[in-house]
Amino acid sequence: MNDEKGISVLQDVIRLKTENNHEAVVAEYYQQLLAEYDIDAEIIEYAPGRSNLIAELKGSEPGKILAYSGHMDVVAAGDHEEWTYDPFGAEIVDGKMYGRGTTDMKAGLTAMVLALIDLKESGKDFNGTLRLVASVGEEIGMYGSKQLTDEGYMDDIDALVIGEPSGKDILVTAHKGSVQYEVISHGKAAHSSMPEKGINSLMQMNAFITEADAKFEEAGKSASNEKLGSMLNVFTVIEGGTQINSVPEQTILKANARTIPECDNQVVLDILNTTIDEMNEKVDGRLELNVLQNNMAVERSDQSKLVQSIRKIAGRDIPSIGLGGATDASNFCRVEKEFDLAIFGPGASATAHTVDEYVEVKDYLYFCGLFIDLALDYLQ
Ligand SMILES: [Zn+2]
Repeated sequence: MNDEKGISVLQDVIRLKTENNHEAVVAEYYQQLLAEYDIDAEIIEYAPGRSNLIAELKGSEPGKILAYSGHMDVVAAGDHEEWTYDPFGAEIVDGKMYGRGTTDMKAGLTAMVLALIDLKESGKDFNGTLRLVASVGEEIGMYGSKQLTDEGYMDDIDALVIGEPSGKDILVTAHKGSVQYEVISHGKAAHSSMPEKGINSLMQMNAFITEADAKFEEAGKSASNEKLGSMLNVFTVIEGGTQINSVPEQTILKANARTIPECDNQVVLDILNTTIDEMNEKVDGRLELNVLQNNMAVERSDQSKLVQSIRKIAGRDIPSIGLGGATDASNFCRVEKEFDLAIFGPGASATAHTVDEYVEVKDYLYFCGLFIDLALDYLQ
């Protein structure tokens, strides 16, 4: 496929609105495009209007399985008036294509789709399988990667590239995990002139925060990871009470812990459960924990065969780093087999989730070529 067609395919995909939903339109678009080149792709429905997509290209001999993956959802564009360019217009100005999802991460994923097509078209030989894994709902819930992992689509892979925006000068082989949770403090309302008749949910929560925070501090100091730093917990939202002269009946606290392999999600859950159990013994009211999201930290070798292949193709010793945020790899890496991992794709990551998100067209085209060469090199 020539550059012009490759660019217009990306523009088509940006114009399909998949703000935290409706990924089926992108899955169907890719499926149809792949079909034009005689590549079968399977739609795997998550929910009505939300579909994952799996496609495979097989070499002449059996061999390794390399998976290329990306998510089809984008975060909300917000107020369109704030944007200089239409967030779903995919306008190209001075070499930059603007739009929601250009960087995060339709450029990366589309470059991967085009790699399958180019390999098929060119008839270049390789061994093994190149598998495309396009997921739904990465930004909220990581639903697609969870479903695909549970259904076994990642069980047999040897290597995985997730085309999230790293840019071409850096690659990612580790990222933190994330636990999002809420704690509900149940008390009893009373007139504020007679607080002894009520149970103050807010003061109960205050005590919980103090105790849990001390434990998180200590756990955070107990371990650190070379690429990821330490585990940390941030209390982010608090809502409690409804009336200035009433003892508050309920207080809700929300928080996000960022974990590392050495101090993982289970450590966080243990701290929360023990603190709540201890407090429930002491207080008159009751504390309750709801875990809203639980994504594992990920760490794979930065000297793996896959990473070596990337460095060879790029012709440079690209440094590998760790990320603070989680990706679909949190779910994919739950499978038993320890596959190689690299998060590597086009984009200006500073513009992800912002107004005027863009991708440099030449960056996108660079990765279109790189993903072809990488498959040929890795699948020998
Ligand atoms: Zn992303």
